[in-house]
Amino acid sequence: MTGKQIANYCSICGAKLERREWHGVIRPVCPACGHVVYFDPKVAVVVWIERDEQVLLIQRAYEPGMGKWALPAGFVDAGEPPEEAATREVWEETGLKTHITRLIDVFPKRDNGLADIVIAYKATIIAGELQAGDDAADAQWFGKDNLPPLVFYPSITLVNRWLANEL
Ligand SMILES: [Zn+2]
Repeated sequence: MTGKQIANYCSICGAKLERREWHGVIRPVCPACGHVVYFDPKVAVVVWIERDEQVLLIQRAYEPGMGKWALPAGFVDAGEPPEEAATREVWEETGLKTHITRLIDVFPKRDNGLADIVIAYKATIIAGELQAGDDAADAQWFGKDNLPPLVFYPSITLVNRWLANEL
């Protein structure tokens, strides 16, 4: 889940790591081979898809946020362009093929969401039938007057902008 990343053993030589100050930051350092561990931020994408004044939301099947609703989202794999991660996640969670039309915003971590950096895109549907899958228990369209309980800072922020006609 979320929280501080840890490293106990060197991924290069297998020796037990020590914690040392390195350029002003305490980091795991290997006393045997000198390898310094830098933790990478987890990067996710969320996708805003709107149709007939309604936004596409998925209901989370797992914690955190189980049972609540959020934009289709997921992690960017190593080596994967973020736009491809966005269309892949929408496909996995909703069964819809989409085309990314623009970058909306980039969000820092502000709650118990699983990512450190969240890239938000707008997309349009090009094919497919709506069907929830992957870690989505359900996928539905919602208008401004019938929104369900939402979870995660990027989804809540974007919906609030939409309600204020600022998206
Ligand atoms: Zn080592």
